[in-house]
Parts: sequence; C-alpha cells; structure tokens
Amino acid sequence: MSTASAFAINAPSFLNASSLKKSVRSGSVSARFTCNSSSSSSSPTPPSLIRNEPVFAAPAPIITPNWTEDKGNESYENAINELKKLLIEKGELDPVAAARIDNITAQATATSDAKISSDTVERIKSGFVKFKTEKFETNPTLYNELAQGQSPKFMVFACSDSRVCPSHVLDFQPGEAFVVRNVANMVPPFDQTKYAGVGAAVEYAVLHLKVSEIIVIGHSKCGGIKGLMTFPDEGPHTTDFIEDWVKVCLPAKKKVVAENGAISLDDQCVTCEKEAVNVSLGNLLTYPFVREGLVNKTLALKGGHYDFVNGTFELWALEFGLSTPTSV
Ligand SMILES: [Zn+2]
Repeated sequence: MSTASAFAINAPSFLNASSLKKSVRSGSVSARFTCNSSSSSSSPTPPSLIRNEPVFAAPAPIITPNWTEDKGNESYENAINELKKLLIEKGELDPVAAARIDNITAQATATSDAKISSDTVERIKSGFVKFKTEKFETNPTLYNELAQGQSPKFMVFACSDSRVCPSHVLDFQPGEAFVVRNVANMVPPFDQTKYAGVGAAVEYAVLHLKVSEIIVIGHSKCGGIKGLMTFPDEGPHTTDFIEDWVKVCLPAKKKVVAENGAISLDDQCVTCEKEAVNVSLGNLLTYPFVREGLVNKTLALKGGHYDFVNGTFELWALEFGLSTPTSV
C-alpha cells in the first residue's frame, strides 16, 4: 500500500447523525458527518527525586519535592504499611523481606547526589541527548519562539497506548498540538466533579490557547475499547478505575451490539473504536465553551482512527447546522 493510499479522509459508512445526536445532551444542536477534504526502615521518609551525573537537562539540581507532613507523609507511611502487610500475607516478612522493604525505601529516599546506574536512566539520557543535539540545538528559531509561549492549532485526544503517540504518527512538531492521552482516548461529558482533569484541559485549550481544531483519535486493537465491549454492563466492578472510565463510551457499545451483534468480537471492537470517537465528539458539545467556538466558527471537531495493523488513518469531520439557538 502506498503512502498516499494509506491515508483516507472519509466518513465511515456506519456513521450517521442520529448516533451522534443520541449522545448529545441537548437536541438543540444538530450534527452530521461529512467528507472533509480540507482538512526497612520502620520510619519511612518521603521520597525525593534522584539525579544521575551528569545533569543533562536542568541547569540547577533537579527539584526536590517540598514534602510537608500535611501533604503526604501519612499516605506514604500508609503505603509502606500496606506493602508490609502484603509481604506478611505472603509469609515473607522475614529478614529477607525486611531487607526488601529497606531496599525499596532506600531507593525512594535516595538523595540528589546518588549515582544510580540503570538501563532506565541510560535510556532517558540517550533519548534526551539525541533530541537535544538533533532537534533542539539545530532549530533555535523554533525553540526560542516556543520559550515565549505556545499557540497550538490542534487539541488532540489520543489513547495512552504506547503504539499510538500522535506526535509520532502525525508528525506534530513541538508547539503544534495540545495533547490529552488517556485509556481509549475518551472525552467524558462536562462534569466539574468527576472529570475535572479533562475539563481543565478542554477549557485551557479552547479559552486560553484558542485551538481551532479538536481531534479525537481512536486506534486499532485498543485494549480500552475491548474492555468496554467485554466488561459486563451491570454488576460489581472488578477494576478500581478502568470499567468506570471506559463506560464513558457505553452508548457506543450499545449501538455496536444493537447493529452489529452478529459479527465477531474483533470486528465489533473495530466498529466500537470509531463509534466511541463519535460519542466523545458528542460529549465535547456538553462543554459550553466548545459549543460557543462551534457557533462562532472558531473551532471545529474531527474524529480520526489510526490503524497500525494496516498502516492507515481515517479522518472525518462534523458540521453543525443550528436549527434552534443553542441552550444546552
Ligand atoms: Zn487504546
């Protein structure tokens, strides 16, 4: 497959406006999909950050967190106690186990002068040195400009999956995309209590950075979507966070099961990867500043799907026709 043919801008046939409308909290905004070619220490102490010589990034010693008792000593101590409890349950709280706890806490409390040699440190160092010599130092104009501030055109929602970094896949340069990554690239509806993290990112991107495009990108073989498709809809959860989170896109699962219940689970997952993007696009409409941007035509929403098995990328757009004033 050629590079050109591997990129498709189209509207997948299974998409339709009614599915999106269902996920929008108000009927006052209508949407349709269109083609868009334009586009052991018994007294644990708090951890401090480690530093390996040479310091290759920070001009001064790396920041040591200011750990105050009211901020976390208690939770840290609890964590160490929980660790001990686990080892007791496994019958391992003997001198060896005590030494293990000592080792863990010693690592966590290493001073900034510690010389830690490990593959991890070497990997991070070599990665940064490569970036600095090949990019940072060869493009002072860009990095001087970025030092003054950022003005990204795109806000991107992508999955945390290690295979789908949008800067890698779409060649975004520094300063070009404000990125939020989470399990299954989901945008939850406006909720100041439950989803403040995502809400803050959308608010900052739209109102302060004034991005002109928000793109939600799904991907092939998404573990989060497979979880959504296979977790029971009802009953007690078996995970602390995952099930509750992926159910943000439960309407996508319901649509896929209703319309494609006879096809294989793998094929249902592929369809759900795209439908979940549409649910997220619908959820974006629950943010007042997003609606305002759409109405003022300063903001556009797009959905995408990256297939890393076949090396293809689909992009689809939303166009909004306002039949009545927006009052969601
Ligand atoms: Zn994923």
